Amino acid sequence: MRTIAKPWGQVFNLEELRSALETHRPAILALVHAETSTGARQPMEGVGDLCREYGCLLLIDTVTSLGGVPIFLDEWGVDLAYSCSQKGLGCSPGASPFTMSDRALEKLARRKTKVANWYLDANLLGKYWGAEHVYHHTAPINLYYGLREALRLVAEEGLAACWQRHQTNVEYLWQQLATIGLSLHVEKEFRLPTLTTVCIPAGVDGKAIARQLLTDHNIEIGGGLGELAGKVWRVGLMGYNSKPESCDRLVAALKQVMG
Ligand SMILES: *Cc1c(COP(=O)(O)O)cnc(C)c1O
Repeated sequence: MRTIAKPWGQVFNLEELRSALETHRPAILALVHAETSTGARQPMEGVGDLCREYGCLLLIDTVTSLGGVPIFLDEWGVDLAYSCSQKGLGCSPGASPFTMSDRALEKLARRKTKVANWYLDANLLGKYWGAEHVYHHTAPINLYYGLREALRLVAEEGLAACWQRHQTNVEYLWQQLATIGLSLHVEKEFRLPTLTTVCIPAGVDGKAIARQLLTDHNIEIGGGLGELAGKVWRVGLMGYNSKPESCDRLVAALKQVMG
């Protein structure tokens, strides 16, 4: 495995991805679409074409995008994508939506060796999920009913309306944070609607403020990770919670605890 890196909060452009594919010639290019450690949304337009040009598969992590950020797997030429039930869909955790393209299935069928582990063997999972119904594991059917209900709620709202709600509410959050003098870490074009990284002002103890938000206001925000440790707070706004009232409550509480 080779990794390619940018300063945390920035995204890759097509030229950078092309140069990485040229250098490393990977079998799979793996990208995080909604990067919750940094608050950045990796643009995917054109990435699938690039991967086809270099004969590799494209895998994307859509854990914090599904339901909250527009995803166009076919248009982008994505071969493999996985997600979760508990973020944008606002369901109980435990179910992991997963998809594979025909190209990925063909590659799997061409394997000369057996998949080395049981639970991630997509051949076995395919036989279980598909018409053959060959036992593989016991499915958490109660979670599937929950996931179905979460998807039904998204369908009732309308997928495009659901994406728009996330975008409208996060823009309201950004605007409200600006009124109390807080700035954001990611350039506007690439900001995620589901997770915002807020710069901790100089001289402010970010951990103490987050602790006080939790104990006094029952609001939990995350701290920075890696390069951003101590520099940002991470604020999630997704699923049921993506509404103006949540933004108002957080901003009022922040204003109070920061004095
Ligand atoms: C939350 C998150 C994960 C982990 O998901 P779990 O369901 O907690 O395992 C992985 N990738 C990204 C980008 C995430 O935001």
